[in-house]
Amino acid sequence: MADCIFCKIVDGEIEANKIFENSSAFAFLDANPLVDGHVVVVPKGHVERFSDMDGEAAAGLFDAVQAVHDAILSGLDADGTNIGLNDGKAAGQAIPHTHVHVIPRYSDDGGGSLHSIVQSDDISELEEVQEKLLSSLCR
Ligand SMILES: [Zn+2]
Repeated sequence: MADCIFCKIVDGEIEANKIFENSSAFAFLDANPLVDGHVVVVPKGHVERFSDMDGEAAAGLFDAVQAVHDAILSGLDADGTNIGLNDGKAAGQAIPHTHVHVIPRYSDDGGGSLHSIVQSDDISELEEVQEKLLSSLCR
């Protein structure tokens, strides 16, 4: 897409600190990192939402995520990573080209887990939620 910053990075119109590339994804250092080694992995084709990707593109994206994750563990001596995809405005997606954040974590960094993103006080019975999801998957 012509005015998309991530498409411009993939096309080389905007410089970025490239970390990894495969046939369907491109990974580079986040320009505003939460910690050293915070990487963004994007599909090469412009897709706004995760649901817009086909299975092959999603598999390629997550192959790249795994390569970046492995490089963070070995190259930065990280103890782990958080891997996250903010899908949609409600989830904090700021750039309308789907992307995965890979964030290095260290045992003593004081950060939280993905469980600290949101916590509802109104939790339904698991079976009720399961039924809704299953009926959606069986469409
Ligand atoms: Zn784009």
